Amino acid sequence: MSDLAERAALWFRADLCLVDNPAWAWATANAERVLPFVTLDQRLLASVGEFRRTQYLANVAALREELRGHGGDLLVVSHQPGAALHEALGSCDVLCFNNATSAFGRSREAAIMHSLPIRTERFWGTLIQPPGAVLTAKGTLSRVFTPFWKTWDRTPLASMPQVGTATIETASGDPLPEYSSPPHPPGSDAAFAALNEWCHTVDDYESTRDIPSVPGTSGLSAALRFGTISPRTVLETVGTHTPGRAAFVRQLAWRDWYAHLLMETPSMLSHAFRPEYDAIRWEDDPDGLQRWKAGQTGYPIVDAGMRQLAQTGWMHNRVRMIAASFLVKDLLIDWRHGEEWFRHLLVDADPAQNAGNWQWVAGTGTDAAPYFRIFNPITQSRRFDPAGVYISRWVPELAGLDASAVHAPWESAPLDLAAAGVVLGDSYPAPIVDHAMARERTLAAYKEARGG
Ligand SMILES: Cc1cc2nc3c(=O)[nH]c(=O)nc-3n(C[C@H](O)[C@H](O)[C@H](O)COP(=O)(O)OP(=O)(O)OC[C@H]3O[C@@H](n4cnc5c(N)ncnc54)[C@H](O)[C@@H]3O)c2cc1C
Repeated sequence: MSDLAERAALWFRADLCLVDNPAWAWATANAERVLPFVTLDQRLLASVGEFRRTQYLANVAALREELRGHGGDLLVVSHQPGAALHEALGSCDVLCFNNATSAFGRSREAAIMHSLPIRTERFWGTLIQPPGAVLTAKGTLSRVFTPFWKTWDRTPLASMPQVGTATIETASGDPLPEYSSPPHPPGSDAAFAALNEWCHTVDDYESTRDIPSVPGTSGLSAALRFGTISPRTVLETVGTHTPGRAAFVRQLAWRDWYAHLLMETPSMLSHAFRPEYDAIRWEDDPDGLQRWKAGQTGYPIVDAGMRQLAQTGWMHNRVRMIAASFLVKDLLIDWRHGEEWFRHLLVDADPAQNAGNWQWVAGTGTDAAPYFRIFNPITQSRRFDPAGVYISRWVPELAGLDASAVHAPWESAPLDLAAAGVVLGDSYPAPIVDHAMARERTLAAYKEARGG
């Protein structure tokens, strides 16, 4: 007993779970009492989109209930780190938390540690492999995904941390702000239920993952974003013993890779990985940007995705790629505007994943789609939503068109449009841009930035 700390302060962040949470496990095993707390940074809460805000607050409330079930509570500190935090936690003798990878997250760590000048125990709890664990033979982080993934795949997992028997304290602090109904059922129990459900269909992942009209992906991104389930739990539960499972787990490696890249290159949030692409002369097109955001570009698959995002806070990965590519390569609008909009609306918005994927699509990142690979939104639409089911769901004004016509309504004969009740430029927009022309314009702009 004498080696135990008396009182550990446990800071919950994007790890709102008591299972496979190394900071929580350490605190409960190495202290007599644990005081769990969250800090609600009011400026941060006010700046994030409503989907993410409500999901976060609902997850915090679910965690609080779980802690109450264990006889404790969750201390809510609604202030900037400073006097209030010191008053609430200053008598603890150790501060425990799981690290963040973004510069912003690390600046919050510095602020908390400044307010609480006590011993600190830090862990990695939100990734499968921590930064620095997956390196090339030269000891560097691979700038190309496949070699990273091959090493990642054979890097042993750390053992699951064992939770101890500390008493959980009952301080509750400030009330949680009001929030409306979150996009996903909140809390760890719901995340575990979603994972178990996913295990029934994951074997089909390779054939269904690109079809936005079916639930062919796990839908676990928000749970992973807030840490209501850990990625290692997901990996260990799903396993890699079938091609579908292996393909799914590979996506979790992308998640680790972008987080490691962000840790190493904080500027990736606002600057192209390849500096030459910061010189692209983007179009200044507020109207185009507005129409893209509103799902009014006249390209049905793009509009369907943007409306799904605006209405639900989530968009299917294939459609994220198509919509992002359309903004950057058809409208030639700076990827950072798109990144910002996605960050605002996505319930799973995460700086590393969002910026990393945007740079992949824009062709400005490491191991990105080559700049000359320009998605054709119509071809993509025909390939991945052949019957137009996804489009009709989100762009109901086109539901009367045949499956063959719904991908590019402007190619239909006026009589067919009229029969379907579609008036281009009125009930549904005419295409905002001609794809073939836009493609040439983009190739020229990228070539110029590359020095010809
Ligand atoms: C432009 C753009 C922006 C994106 N922004 C985000 C974001 O902010 N947050 C986010 O979590 N994902 C982002 N993604 C990646 C991907 O679209 C989502 O992770 C996925 O759609 C989430 O749905 P799911 O959980 O059903 O995915 P599944 O297909 O079930 O994948 C399982 C998990 O693997 C991870 N994953 C899957 N695809 C990727 C990927 N391309 N990159 C990194 N990790 C991946 C996610 O954690 C996901 O939950 C973005 C993709 C694009 C093209």
